[in-house]
Amino acid sequence: MIHNMLFISNLGGTETIIILILLLLPTVLCVRRAKQLHQSKVVWGILGFFLNYVALLVAYILPSVDETKSCDYCGKLIMTTAKKCRHCGEWIEDK
Ligand SMILES: [Zn+2]
Repeated sequence: MIHNMLFISNLGGTETIIILILLLLPTVLCVRRAKQLHQSKVVWGILGFFLNYVALLVAYILPSVDETKSCDYCGKLIMTTAKKCRHCGEWIEDK
């Protein structure tokens, strides 16, 4: 920890700014992704800040969950964009 602080204090202004950007970038990208997924920006902002690139990776793997819904007729998972259920063959009405 002390070693890291000494390392940063020995750097010039430009390097310090680059390190700050690299640390804050996952936070910003997580918040943007949360907006796309209609999820809490605060939660993803905090996750992005503490877990950095790990949270970012999870945020970009996650969306596949949001792209499916259950069929009104048979209850099986289908794509939200589907017009016809591939399990029971019923036509899905847009709501
Ligand atoms: Zn169905």
